[in-house]
Amino acid sequence: MTPSIQSKLPHVGTTIFTVMSALANEHNAINLGQGFPDYPMNEALIALVNKAMQGGHNQYVHMNGLPLLRERLAEKIKDLYATNINVDTEITITPGGTYAIYTALTTILQPGDEVIVFEPAYDSYIPNIEINGAVPVLISLVYPDYKIDWEIVKQKVTPKTKLIMLNTPHNPTGALLNADDIVQLQNLLKGTGIFILSDEVYEHLIFDSKKHESMLRYPTLYERSFVCFSFGKVYHCTGWKLGYCVAPPALMKEFRKVHQFNCFTCNSPVQFALAEFLQQKNNYLDLGFFLQQKRDYLKKGMQQTKFKPLPSYGSYFQLYSYDDITDESEKDFAIRLTKEYGVATIPASAFYKKGEDNKVLRFCFSKKESTLNEAVNRLMKV
Ligand code: PMP
Ligand code: GLN
Repeated sequence: MTPSIQSKLPHVGTTIFTVMSALANEHNAINLGQGFPDYPMNEALIALVNKAMQGGHNQYVHMNGLPLLRERLAEKIKDLYATNINVDTEITITPGGTYAIYTALTTILQPGDEVIVFEPAYDSYIPNIEINGAVPVLISLVYPDYKIDWEIVKQKVTPKTKLIMLNTPHNPTGALLNADDIVQLQNLLKGTGIFILSDEVYEHLIFDSKKHESMLRYPTLYERSFVCFSFGKVYHCTGWKLGYCVAPPALMKEFRKVHQFNCFTCNSPVQFALAEFLQQKNNYLDLGFFLQQKRDYLKKGMQQTKFKPLPSYGSYFQLYSYDDITDESEKDFAIRLTKEYGVATIPASAFYKKGEDNKVLRFCFSKKESTLNEAVNRLMKV
């Protein structure tokens, strides 16, 4: 008898990013869907990886990550967030941010635990929770600002609440946590045993002189947090799939137990290269301004179309409303835009378990101006 598999994720299909990129390729559309830059990354960083390979740095590095890279990251964290991180006990290099998130959830969750998730939510969160037998407790961010309603959060906390998931800057909305959110969060968690998973992969992609409210800034929040980062977003190399997780020693000790038998250690030459490249601080400090110009460039072009922008203060993304154009669902409209007009986007409904539909699409603006121009030319016909 052929064995039949019992799915651990029976309700999950293929991620929307893969679906829309495939559709974009099939129809030769401009891909403003999946979040990745179409401009080249820094040549100097490529040269450093080459140098590391030629220099023989091709064997396993320490399972927690190259010590020099961890040291440089700890220095950066101290500079930016005024927090001292122990390089031996509080930081682990991972194969990307997604893996760091999955590992943290697998480390902490027991079957039946409840996890507070704000929707729209990055598409890996809910499957990562469910595969661990835990239960996502879904709370919608309030349209159109996508702010957290902390009164609702208070009502949703139960004795089973194990963890709260945060993402700032936020994908897909570009919303940020602000100082008031931090106070609300501190008040909510005071005296509880609730953990935080904070997805901060867009930490440097912040616009309009806003501040990144990292959990690393606040001792009473950091003491219960796994904070996840991605080098792909910082150095325009999403395909390199390297990131890291920062957590207090007791949490990190357990995280590493899961990590060591899953990945063990990450790509060595890239870690050598990044350790050196991290010393050039402007590469990450100027990033917000660089992407802000792209957000504004697309927004200016889009004034010639019927799409209306919602505010975006960070990330690679901006939501645009199309309620002046059609009543179609986000998914149908995104598919039609790709097929008929040659521009791929992501329906925001893909970031909701039950597909809430506000007639908004996510546009990725981390693209060359020529790409953004061509997309606008096509969208003017809609
Ligand atoms: N979190 C969010 C919100 C993201 O947009 C991404 C982008 N892929 C990730 C995590 C994962 O980053 P990585 O590619 O390093 O896994
Ligand atoms: N983070 C990227 C996005 O939101 C894509 C990552 C992926 O394809 N899984 O578009």
